[in-house]
Amino acid sequence: MSIRAVPDRVHVRAPGKINVFLQVGAAGEDGYHDVATAYQAVSAVEDVWASPADGFTIAVSGTVEVSQVPCDDRNLAIRAARLLAQEIGWRGGVHLDVRKGVPVAGGMGGGSADAAAALVACDALWGAGLGSHDLLELGARLGADVPFALMGGTAIGTGRGDVLSPALARGRFDWVIVTREDGLSTPEVYRALDAHRGRHAVDIAPPPRRPEVATDVLHALRAGDAAMLADSAHNDLQVAALALRPELAEVLDAGERAGALVGLVSGSGPTLAFLAGDAESAIELQVLLSAAGHHALHVHGPLPGARIID
Ligand code: ATP
Repeated sequence: MSIRAVPDRVHVRAPGKINVFLQVGAAGEDGYHDVATAYQAVSAVEDVWASPADGFTIAVSGTVEVSQVPCDDRNLAIRAARLLAQEIGWRGGVHLDVRKGVPVAGGMGGGSADAAAALVACDALWGAGLGSHDLLELGARLGADVPFALMGGTAIGTGRGDVLSPALARGRFDWVIVTREDGLSTPEVYRALDAHRGRHAVDIAPPPRRPEVATDVLHALRAGDAAMLADSAHNDLQVAALALRPELAEVLDAGERAGALVGLVSGSGPTLAFLAGDAESAIELQVLLSAAGHHALHVHGPLPGARIID
């Protein structure tokens, strides 16, 4: 019989994401949409510390505004810990300390990163030893973006975004993200997209039956070519996010005028992601956008998925 050494505190870091490409299919009967997306994990990260406790508790702090984050069973990290406990028959609890660096409700998957980090941290804290396959399966039950926060890097997601295959990506991509204080609800953005498509049914192409990531995106990632990626980056949800927040269009223009290769709404927004040619241009862009009064952050990708930090 072997006795596994169990640590008394585990620190896990998980990345936020940018959707470099996002195509959305028609709504299914259950209201959900199939998507095809290219995710990149970026250096806006969530840190989670898990320590033993009798119940399930959480404390949330961060470098971003965290007042909207629930500190009870609605929190995705707590739901992740409870799901794992149930799955392995763990009778105790856990206390999670979360330090958020990913803007809340910004379309960058911060809550999903917390859930991924909680799964990895509790797995180690409780000595469960689940493999990545099982963790990915549990993650998919918690939310469509959780598997990618576990996997990290650059990946293609289909289905609801949770059926993943790694994408080859060379080098590093530099992004400037512009965050907003007022978040957007993901379901609301999808509803706005359906309404837009309904209104413009005669002028625009119908939603794809089987969404696909454009091959130019895959080429650009494989080549590590930011300019080529800028030409092929696209987000179907952008039109909906802009309909709900028209002022975002001006910020997109401002970023592109300030030297971004391209600007796009990240996921369901309202965070905007600007791709820069290299790290130096990203710093210049960040300075210009900050001087114009925006909250701009320079990040880079790809970053690894949720992992234990010594
Ligand atoms: P998604 O695109 O997956 O909906 P997002 O990246 O736009 O997410 P999140 O920051 O993950 O946004 O949070 C969306 C909402 O989920 C928040 O407004 C908050 O009420 C709730 N929430 C639950 N758990 C968390 C968490 N750990 N961190 C942040 N928000 C959380």
